[in-house]
Amino acid sequence: MSVNEVNISGIGIHKGKPSSLRVVEKVNKGITFYSPAGKIELSPEVVVTDINSIHLATVLKAGSAEISTVEHLLGALVQFAGGADIYVSSDEIPILDGSALQFYNAFIKAGFLPGINPIALKKETSISFNDSKAIIKPVKNLNDAVYNIILDYSNPFLGELTYSYRPFTDSFLTSIAPARTFALEKDVKTIINMGLGKGGSLENTVIISENGPLNPDKMRFNNEPARHKMLDLIGDLATLNGLPKASITITKPGHKINAMIAKEIFKMQTD
Ligand SMILES: [Zn+2]
Repeated sequence: MSVNEVNISGIGIHKGKPSSLRVVEKVNKGITFYSPAGKIELSPEVVVTDINSIHLATVLKAGSAEISTVEHLLGALVQFAGGADIYVSSDEIPILDGSALQFYNAFIKAGFLPGINPIALKKETSISFNDSKAIIKPVKNLNDAVYNIILDYSNPFLGELTYSYRPFTDSFLTSIAPARTFALEKDVKTIINMGLGKGGSLENTVIISENGPLNPDKMRFNNEPARHKMLDLIGDLATLNGLPKASITITKPGHKINAMIAKEIFKMQTD
């Protein structure tokens, strides 16, 4: 039997270094990252959320190995039934165009088997962190699983955005995969001053000013930032090696609260 695999390369958005990736599909579940500094078995427990105070990307850490910006790759990979071995040449996953589209299309083209692994919940729970809040309730049927996010930016162009997505029945390819990374123009200086965003450009990030996007190609959807936040949520929950069969409503989602949700659900599984 031939092995399905995908090779992708690009640059990392934060350190700006070249990075190449080989993703080999496995029949059995479980995702393992192999980096030059060592290997990391994916679970919510290896997600570190204290790397920087503004939580710009999801970072995995085990021993001396650390891999950053895994969320778009994992958001695409969780749409497939099997596990994977992922070989990465640097400590950051390539940002590509800032979305999950190239990852998803590559997995389809390589013949990866579609199908999301549902994660059943034992009980209802709620989580809060600063002004972010999440309510998580188990549902009986896959069709009832729904993720709702409520964003509220002081930016007048974005304002309040809400977005709902049914992870097991809506189309990831058309609704979520194309939505690109974005940043508010007012935050760009802060990001650069922190020594991050070195690989960021209008090629991979939508920069939004008070009057709208600065990118010449504008937006792929009028609510592209909300769809990207949903991609980040799906990618962060994918550390569970599947997606929760749940109704999840999050006000002001972000990598920190997303990781707290995944850790809480993981704890429920193992209790
Ligand atoms: Zn993102």
